[in-house]
Amino acid sequence: MGVRLKTKLSLGLGFLFLVILTFGILSLYYINRLSSDANRILKNNYESLVYSNNMLGALEDLPDDSSAITVFRANLRNQEANITEPGEREVTESLQKNFQELLANPEDSSNYVQVRESIRMINDLNQEAILKKNAIAGATAESAKLWLTIIFTTLILIVLTFIYNFPGVIAEPVAKLADGIREIANKNYGKRIYLKQEDEFGELAQAFNSMAGKLDEYENSNLAKLTFEKKRIETIINQMRDGIIGLDEKGHLLFLNAVAEKLLGLKEADILGKYAPDLALKNDLMRTLLQEEGTKKELKIYADNKESYFNKDVLHVVNNGQVAGKVIVLRNITLFHELNEAKTNFIATVSHELKTPLSSIKMSAQLLTDNRVGQLNTEQQELTKSISEDADRLLNITSELLNMSQVETGNIQLKLQPARPAAIIEQAVQAVQFQAQQKNITLRTNLPEDLPAVQADKEKTSWVIINFLTNAIRYSPDTSFIDIAAYHKDNKVFFTVTDYGRGIDEKYLPRIFDRYFKVPGTHERNGTGLGLAISKEFIEAQGGAIWVKSRIGEGSLFGFHLSQAK
Ligand code: ADP
Repeated sequence: MGVRLKTKLSLGLGFLFLVILTFGILSLYYINRLSSDANRILKNNYESLVYSNNMLGALEDLPDDSSAITVFRANLRNQEANITEPGEREVTESLQKNFQELLANPEDSSNYVQVRESIRMINDLNQEAILKKNAIAGATAESAKLWLTIIFTTLILIVLTFIYNFPGVIAEPVAKLADGIREIANKNYGKRIYLKQEDEFGELAQAFNSMAGKLDEYENSNLAKLTFEKKRIETIINQMRDGIIGLDEKGHLLFLNAVAEKLLGLKEADILGKYAPDLALKNDLMRTLLQEEGTKKELKIYADNKESYFNKDVLHVVNNGQVAGKVIVLRNITLFHELNEAKTNFIATVSHELKTPLSSIKMSAQLLTDNRVGQLNTEQQELTKSISEDADRLLNITSELLNMSQVETGNIQLKLQPARPAAIIEQAVQAVQFQAQQKNITLRTNLPEDLPAVQADKEKTSWVIINFLTNAIRYSPDTSFIDIAAYHKDNKVFFTVTDYGRGIDEKYLPRIFDRYFKVPGTHERNGTGLGLAISKEFIEAQGGAIWVKSRIGEGSLFGFHLSQAK
């Protein structure tokens, strides 16, 4: 384990503290030494000089002035207490002796000379000492100057290197780590950070590297898994019998499978990433596929030397509530188409074949009721009436089936011409009048005077209204009303048939115009479930629209509109 960052910081600051402390102590030491040198000179030697001078002064006044002896004695005592130099004691002692002799023998002038000589010697000793000590103090000052300068310079150098290096200890690894994090954010998981430090930054770098390693591993394993999954899904898509084309949200081609390639006559590799509407300029099928409407229409496509039928299905890919593109599925319905065609042909043939014998049965039954053929008893009359009614019903069914097969084979023949709405409605009302009377139902017609003519096939339009009315009568209670209305708005003429019968459950309304659809639970044996489907085809073939509004238990309103004649 290396030195921790915290320790480094503490050491750095501690070192600076030590530098300041050392320098302070050293300076104090030298100042102290200098001042004690000066003190020593002052105390030890200067005072001795003062005493000597005083003694010399007192000597001048001897023997006349007796107080001079006291002054001399006092100074001599001071001098005796202030012996500091080698040899000073001996000289002071001989001074003492000489002074005693002088006091004992004041007339002897040689004693004066002796005393003066001793005082001068003390003086000299102390003067020399002063000079010597001064020289020492000078040397101390010099060495203090030198040492303080050396130490100051060294410390300054150390502190400077410290200041220069220390921020790098923190700034450098921080910069490296920031750089590494930036790389990771850019998904460059191969990034590693190498730090020689073994402190917290070193640990951080290690943690970073292991994180990057984990991310790298995760990314790679994920990538491999995703690539595998992608391959698998691509294979599945490619092997499907349906054509599949994927577009992104802007309409660029993402993928298309083998079937789609064949149908479009395009190679995936050539058109990948291209803008689909651009391709549609040169490719009819692509144009049809990109049209939003008409999804229900069958597409007849000639490819691979044969005709196939496809159903277009568009799936909008939604991701988190945002449209992320769409997948166009071309479902191969050739088989269903062929079966459906066979069924339609069969129904058409059978209905057609049944029509003639049914008509003749009806004719014969009617003839039987004629008195000229022979008189029938009541029972026989009832039987022929029932034969006639059943033949009617069967004829109705065959005509519906024929109509349907016409619709399914796309063979609706329209005779569009201006027609009066009133005439169309009248024809329909007359056709169902008898049925209505049998249930005692009143048909109320409400037509404005100024209704314009419609552009319509009169027969087919009144067939539609008859179908509406037949249903309305069938699902209305006895002695109720049925309203037939027409009005005119925005260059269109609207026709409606309203009954107050049982109504239709809301959930069945979207399917009411589907072929063979009957509301479940209505045990009505007379229906084929084709009437409304044929009505829709008839109205749409004439460029109109058909609709229904109904509430269960309250009744139903069926309506359509056609263009006004010009
Ligand atoms: P169908 O020939 O069997 O009557 P339609 O296509 O005309 O077939 O009608 C489909 C179904 O719609 C009917 O079976 C019936 O259940 C329901 N339906 C049609 N008209 C009405 C109506 N006026 N009131 C209630 N139900 C109706």
